[in-house]
Amino acid sequence: MKNVTNKARSLVSAGGVKLHLFLPSRRSIMTVVGKGGEHWVDTEFAFCSCPAYYFATTGGRNAECYHLGSALLAIETGAVEKTEFDDEEFDGFVRGLVMDL
Ligand SMILES: [Zn+2]
Repeated sequence: MKNVTNKARSLVSAGGVKLHLFLPSRRSIMTVVGKGGEHWVDTEFAFCSCPAYYFATTGGRNAECYHLGSALLAIETGAVEKTEFDDEEFDGFVRGLVMDL
């Protein structure tokens, strides 16, 4: 596997990759909790809300930060921590994440 750093490995084994599943719609949000706080990652679009990702993309360099690498590793190894929520909590949850940026 490419780009898997020790940082990503230890983050995954500490349960730092979380999937928030909203029911009954089954919308889901994945977050990675690192040193700088909780970041929103989307492995489908290779997006992460952390500053490292932001600067890497605006600087035209390889956009992969270790949060994304961690999320992919957790998915592959089945180490994602799943939590279920009610759909009513979705808006508040997203707002909380965005305010954190
Ligand atoms: Zn990141």
